[in-house]
Amino acid sequence: MSGITRREFLAASATAAAAAATGTQRTLAAGETRMIKIEKIELFPMCYPMTGYFKFFTGPHGAAGRAAVVIKITADNGEVGWGQSVPIAKWSYETLETATIALRDYFAPVLIGRDSTDMEGAHAEMDKAIAPGFSTGMPITRAGVDIALHDLTGKLQKKSLAELWGKPKGEPLLLSWTVNVRELKEVDAVMEEGRKRGYRNFNIKVAPDPAFDAELAKLVRKNAPDGFLWADANGGYDPESALKAAPMLAGAGADVLESPLRPNQISGYQKLKKLGALPILMDEGCVSPIEVAEFIKLGMVDGIAMKPARCGGLLSNKRQIELCLENGLMWLGSGLTDPDISLAAMLGLYSAYGLKKPAALNGPQFLTADILKTPLRIEGGFAYVPDGAGLGIEVDENKVVELMKKSGGDRILKG
Ligand SMILES: [Mg+2]
Repeated sequence: MSGITRREFLAASATAAAAAATGTQRTLAAGETRMIKIEKIELFPMCYPMTGYFKFFTGPHGAAGRAAVVIKITADNGEVGWGQSVPIAKWSYETLETATIALRDYFAPVLIGRDSTDMEGAHAEMDKAIAPGFSTGMPITRAGVDIALHDLTGKLQKKSLAELWGKPKGEPLLLSWTVNVRELKEVDAVMEEGRKRGYRNFNIKVAPDPAFDAELAKLVRKNAPDGFLWADANGGYDPESALKAAPMLAGAGADVLESPLRPNQISGYQKLKKLGALPILMDEGCVSPIEVAEFIKLGMVDGIAMKPARCGGLLSNKRQIELCLENGLMWLGSGLTDPDISLAAMLGLYSAYGLKKPAALNGPQFLTADILKTPLRIEGGFAYVPDGAGLGIEVDENKVVELMKKSGGDRILKG
């Protein structure tokens, strides 16, 4: 990607896109049913403007905002499903550019013409198009497709996400406010902003320095004596520092420690869990249900912090939640600073599965634009699950195009 700007890249992508094929629809006899096929896939690469400091959105690409590719899948009966891929280069290896290429040149071509409601089959085709490395290939990118197919299937079957899964409509979700500071003197102001908006629970970003992190946890605990205090290291300690940090964070009032180490530090996780200073959770590295089952068997974790974007979408994430429930493990709901469509999918998932703890879904904290006709209802530290078929949201295509143009992107059409 060196040598050209993001704007030039996205414009070039659009120029290279294939023209739309004209779908042929035949008239059906009364009562006749037929397979509803995926007819076309449109991509809208964009960046959401942001506010506040968050370590994953720094540097030249981060400064452009929260990258996202909005995915519109149209079936051959005209029904539409919306999804959203949400890469963050500083969190994992997928970027706006690679997500756009993978969707345009690898995933969309194998999906067009397929049964709109065959999600397992769609994932199998995507596995063939981009093979797994250690685990599922391009999970963040493909999660957007998975979400769009859930939305489309729900609309075709007139069912909400919970209804598709045979679950009751869940409760609104309590949210957690993210405290990511460079200096301890920033803590009070960041927490006050959350408190003003009704938040009473806080997640802190820790590592690599256990001493700083313990002071941070102490301060947050002092300001929120009754809140759930969740420390997330994003794999940022080495094994020795993590063993030091866990009891220090416990002493400072933290309730859980998430991702103390990179996921390939298997023996480190085993030692931390054995130490028992805090419940040890994993996030990064839980890409497919297969390794989650292995991590549980290996005695590495007390629980998993979920996020559909990390693991290829809702289908895989549902199985990860079920694995936690079957094994008596804790599960928490987290996110990737998700905007609109991705956030709606997570609200539907976590609510349907009865999430008990506050969810670290910080899109509403950091993002300053939306692309929905009616924005998601976030009030008093709660997020309300939208009602209706599929994701229950109505995407405003004019807003999508406007935000895409503002960020230098261009619509890509495959079909
Ligand atoms: Mg995390």
